[in-house]
Amino acid sequence: MRDWVSFSEVKKRVKLDRVLRSYGVDWLRPSGEQQDRGRCPIHQGQGTEAFHAHLGRNVFHCFACGAGGNVLDFVVAMEGCSMRDAALRVQESQDGAGVAWASEPERSKLVTKERGINPPLGFSLDLDPAHPYLAGRGMDAATASYFGVGYYSGRGLMSGRIAIPIHDEESISSLWWPRRGRGDPRYRFPAGFQKSQVLFNYHRARAASDDRVVVVEGFFDCMRVHQAGFSCVVALMGARLSRAQKDLMANRFSSIVLLLDGDQAGRRATAQIASDLAPACSVTLLPPDTQPDQMAADQIRQVLTKAERRTAIRAN
Ligand SMILES: [Zn+2]
Repeated sequence: MRDWVSFSEVKKRVKLDRVLRSYGVDWLRPSGEQQDRGRCPIHQGQGTEAFHAHLGRNVFHCFACGAGGNVLDFVVAMEGCSMRDAALRVQESQDGAGVAWASEPERSKLVTKERGINPPLGFSLDLDPAHPYLAGRGMDAATASYFGVGYYSGRGLMSGRIAIPIHDEESISSLWWPRRGRGDPRYRFPAGFQKSQVLFNYHRARAASDDRVVVVEGFFDCMRVHQAGFSCVVALMGARLSRAQKDLMANRFSSIVLLLDGDQAGRRATAQIASDLAPACSVTLLPPDTQPDQMAADQIRQVLTKAERRTAIRAN
């Protein structure tokens, strides 16, 4: 196998219908010029017209799960692998199939895809909230049910994964799930998902009577803080605050407690975000090397109650 791969060469030379066939996708029907439609091989949902393959443009789009892109995006979605692995896989499978490859490596670059921002999901999954993975991360089944989180044992791309529904203000717009595979702790969003446009759990937090919101980095941080009795909590899904996220918070809450990870990156982010949100923001720093999803409920309550008192003092 070659150790280099040209993304642009693969995208240009490998035909989508060929890749579809190699995955056994033989059920698409012609619909318009150089366009096929049918059930989506990625999320395998019910919609019999959801998946569109534009053979002329060599791209695809699913109107149900929101997946879309070029041949490499398709392989990434099917395999849950990296773009580079997808390119190597496709290149290898096409060798000897009459495809001539450029002899010099080109600089590889990721493609930016044009899509509507976080379209609603067109399907739902039957998830198990009592899976040992969730218990192992300190979540009880009631919390998992409340957040709609669980293990998916059905078929398709999300088989064998934990799925976490992400809502925008109106609908479930996306699912997040840990990758399959041993020793690979990375997580992935669906293709094209823009996490900077939403705050995890915002639709519930804004409905709370509280004017003070706790802000954490990750999904599990958020769920653990909720479980400790603080339901007015949102997650940034990272350690950065986007303009859209800032607006969401500033429009609804007057007081904000930052409970980001206690590591160096978390502390740096805390300082940055605190200055972004000032003067509405009261900041809570965690002891080094701790993060909310690894704290006991008692510990979380202690830290947040302390922060509450500090806010009260400041207000007087
Ligand atoms: Zn789909």
